[in-house]
Amino acid sequence: MNDARAYPPRERRVEPKRTVDFAAELNAAQHAAATHRDGPLLIVAGAGTGKTRTLVYRVAHLIERGVPPQRILLLTFTRRAAQEMLARAEKLVGQTSRGVHGGTFHGTAHRLLRRFGPETGLPGDFTILDQSDAEDLMQLSRAALGLGDKTKRFPKKETLHHVYSRHVNTDIPVGAILREEYPRFIAFEDDFARVFADYTARKQGRDLLDYDDLLLYWALMLESAPGIADKVAGLYDHILVDEYQDTNVLQARILKGMCRMHRNITVVGDDAQSIYAFRGATIRNILDFPREYHGAATVTLEENYRSTQPILDATNLLISRAEERFSKELFTRRTGGEKPWLVTAQDESQQTRFVVDRILELHEEGIPLREMAVLFRAGYMSADLEIELTARNIPFDKWGGLKFLEAAHVKDVLAFLRVLENPRDEVSWYRLLLLMPGIGEVTARNAVQSMADLAWSHEAFGRFQPPPRAREAHAALVRLLGDLRGNAGGDEGRVAREITRVRAMYDDILRERYDRVEPRLSDLDQLQTIAGGYPDRSTFLSAIALEPPSATSDLGFGADAEDDTLILSTAHSSKGREWDAVFVIWAVDGYFPMARALGSDDEIEEERRLMYVAMTRARNHLAVSYPLNAYDTRRGADYSIDQVSRFLDRGVRKAFQKVVLETVADPSLTPDADATAPEVDLRALLKNRFAPPNA
Ligand code: ATP
Ligand code: MG
Repeated sequence: MNDARAYPPRERRVEPKRTVDFAAELNAAQHAAATHRDGPLLIVAGAGTGKTRTLVYRVAHLIERGVPPQRILLLTFTRRAAQEMLARAEKLVGQTSRGVHGGTFHGTAHRLLRRFGPETGLPGDFTILDQSDAEDLMQLSRAALGLGDKTKRFPKKETLHHVYSRHVNTDIPVGAILREEYPRFIAFEDDFARVFADYTARKQGRDLLDYDDLLLYWALMLESAPGIADKVAGLYDHILVDEYQDTNVLQARILKGMCRMHRNITVVGDDAQSIYAFRGATIRNILDFPREYHGAATVTLEENYRSTQPILDATNLLISRAEERFSKELFTRRTGGEKPWLVTAQDESQQTRFVVDRILELHEEGIPLREMAVLFRAGYMSADLEIELTARNIPFDKWGGLKFLEAAHVKDVLAFLRVLENPRDEVSWYRLLLLMPGIGEVTARNAVQSMADLAWSHEAFGRFQPPPRAREAHAALVRLLGDLRGNAGGDEGRVAREITRVRAMYDDILRERYDRVEPRLSDLDQLQTIAGGYPDRSTFLSAIALEPPSATSDLGFGADAEDDTLILSTAHSSKGREWDAVFVIWAVDGYFPMARALGSDDEIEEERRLMYVAMTRARNHLAVSYPLNAYDTRRGADYSIDQVSRFLDRGVRKAFQKVVLETVADPSLTPDADATAPEVDLRALLKNRFAPPNA
């Protein structure tokens, strides 16, 4: 073409590399760790002592030493954490650090399995089941074995999945898990095994992998296939792991396999902050590290750089109550600052009012909103605060506890895409068949069976003979799926367009089902926006199953990272972060610790560590608040009088200054002191109302 326009390359501007003075920017122990040559290294230290910082500097140092960035693997707890650490490394050593592979265990497993899976007999196009999909599949197994009908007491799908997952992640035998957690189900031990066998076969027959499989297959690839193990382990020369206290047995096995050739492994953790035992994490990984890796160097850090002394006094006291503990008491040079506040509120609305007022006050003193966070035990506990923040126009971003992708309507739409991607995806087939008017359980089951009989070929669903009632729905679905399949070819925006077509049918179903359909439709708009950012369907589906958006900002609405927004976060999602001012709300027994975690001492200890994590996020200001009264339907009572969290015992409370909130009297409700004679006698008006007519 003659009218082609010349497009000159832009000048390539690369930030000049600054020379990093490792010794000046780190203390002696941190420096020793960051510049440690080769071989296993354990950094075990308390909150805010610079563990993550040291890891960033170690990445930078490795690159300066000449280790090719793409041969470094950095494993973190969230993708966001990896991105931030690598962004910091980039500031130190420049853009080359972008070559470093950073991510979560699950994300990395996914990448490796897509690449090496086919050599080990895994299908290249497997679909990932998230937790609720996995539970649904467990339900299909349970029903297929007739265990659902035989006895009502047979455990529910959630319990089955929990036991399964725990067993896989911890290597604890199923019988032992039942004895410990579900003694009432011990008699069903054999049935558990049958369900798990069916579940495993079902996944394999349908090219489905659950979260645990990602880790399990990665471990097996390293342990049972020497040829491939060499290739996989040969990808990296150095492996670094942050938050090692929250890894499980399976992850320790993976690390062992990944670095058996070079043993260049650095792990960083704090046993006092282990908060994922409920998912099978174990601090034994930290404790056993020196034994697992002979000759490992151990570095401990005791200086806290984050918090002021008064805050540290309070958190040191809080964690000193923990039953088992290995890391030392921390000190800081950040003397000065006031004691943290312990705020008693009359009820939730007063607590909310206080938090918002104080945030505005600190903001006026010059602290940006993004330097403040409100933390709570569970996502729903911020509902009242969110309403108030919205009313008062304070922008916020919420992390953790997001239910967006768990919403039924979002899962419904995804089910269409998933059967296109993997025609064997039984869970999604059920889901979408049952949506269709005229198709019930029996027809759905027959349809799935007939597809299985035809080896799940693309045409299988079209060949299914539906009963008369279901004919129209069947034909519509065949048309839609055929349409979507015809729309092959990867181009930008394709996934979003597919969602548009699905919605041409689905939105009507939604309108039929719900009275208030608008918020649901706008969720689907959001899903579409997110989908627009992915190159193809497979990447999109894997990404949202693996790294579901965990903050409102990840969803594209709410705030930009650049904006000045307050952070609301669950305590779990606050791990590793820090803010100038931190509010911990609902420090009430039953809320924090949460009521359902009060079952065993271990669970209570984990809740204590979680509160420790929450409070140690604060640099200069910490306020812990508890409402005295709560309307609480969750606990069965309408109204209850609350007790302050058991973790704030008398001794711990001494490290706080008590703050009592003054109530602003509502002027319209105070009796008018000047009124002497009543204007009207209300009682007299009613007195004779029910008197007999002629009295
Ligand atoms: P957590 O246990 O909460 O994950 P951590 O041990 O990973 O904490 P970091 O987040 O790395 O701690 O560091 C806490 C804060 O202290 C950060 O702001 C960090 O930049 C600062 N810091 C750590 N070490 C130093 C140092 N040697 N000089 C200056 N600042 C430091
Ligand atoms: Mg850290």
